[in-house]
Amino acid sequence: MLIDTYGRVATDLRVSLTDRCNLRCTYCMPEEGLQWLAKPDLLTDDEIVRLIHLAVTELGVTEVRFTGGEPLLRPGLVGIVERCAALEPRPKMSLTTNGIGLKRTAAALKTAGLDRVNVSLDTLRPDVFKTLTRRDRHQDVLDGMAAAREAGLTPVKVNAVLMPGLNADEAPDLLSWAVEHDYELRFIEQMPLDAQHGWKREGMITAGDILASLRTRFTLTEEGEQARGSAPAERWIVDGGPHRVGVIASVTRPFCAACDRTRLTADGQVRTCLFATEETDLREALRSGAPDAEIARIWKLAMWGKKAGSGLDDPSFLQPERPMSAIGG
Ligand code: SAM
Ligand code: SF4
Repeated sequence: MLIDTYGRVATDLRVSLTDRCNLRCTYCMPEEGLQWLAKPDLLTDDEIVRLIHLAVTELGVTEVRFTGGEPLLRPGLVGIVERCAALEPRPKMSLTTNGIGLKRTAAALKTAGLDRVNVSLDTLRPDVFKTLTRRDRHQDVLDGMAAAREAGLTPVKVNAVLMPGLNADEAPDLLSWAVEHDYELRFIEQMPLDAQHGWKREGMITAGDILASLRTRFTLTEEGEQARGSAPAERWIVDGGPHRVGVIASVTRPFCAACDRTRLTADGQVRTCLFATEETDLREALRSGAPDAEIARIWKLAMWGKKAGSGLDDPSFLQPERPMSAIGG
């Protein structure tokens, strides 16, 4: 098992398939100038499948989430999903995506064995979308989500980040829309993980702000600790149910004590936390011919050293060198 010194067990593996993206969300990437990982540094499809195989057969991982960058840009995605679906025990598999291209790939991903998707959408207004992501692709995202729902990649969860001066007033509209379309909406507090280091604690839209805004239109009832388990989203029942809304308050209500994540970057580094400042190289071990037992030992040792918390509430907090797009969000 991937256990740490605080007794937490990592069963949820986040795999970044690429650091590249076809959007440029302001809270994630600069307009241009971001240095991409070099192709030879990226894990190959075979290397990724080997590590996931090891994680589910030897290390107790039960859930795999593919992410990035934009994972739909990875040419081998469907094949990777298909091969992971054949593993014993079969992990639950989901994908976090900006939705562009999902219209084309949703059915193939479902057939390959993907269980679910999380699609990111921060606004219902095409003009705001264009400002926020620096690309005019709003309709493509909406089409991608609908295709995912039709393909049965459900529940389709929608991730939204609210930014001051841009979409901060949209929480109730986003929730009305999500309820109407049967999507499960989750707001994510903006975190200091942008490549340009532009995050400011002052002025960020907090979970408290989001809930206050939602309560102007909806009655929200807390689901409670038990329902949450190790999930990062605290959830509220909307107007008596059945719909729910989640808030992932990594900054103002961190959930580190219940964290069950381990992360693999596209270039084969294990990260114990989004905010970790250290990484452990598995790619070198893979490419130098290490047997599975040795790779498992390195992975376990890395997780054993996982810190108690993200350190976000500590005045000496340092933003990790890698941005969210390179870590895998
Ligand atoms: N490109 C895919 C997408 O956008 O869904 C997957 C990768 S993206 C890094 C994963 C999630 O991280 C998205 O929901 C995105 O909104 C979120 N994200 C990116 N930068 C963030 C930040 N600084 N704070 C909070 N969430 C962020
Ligand atoms: Fe791309 Fe996702 Fe980052 Fe937006 S949040 S720039 S879609 S990786």
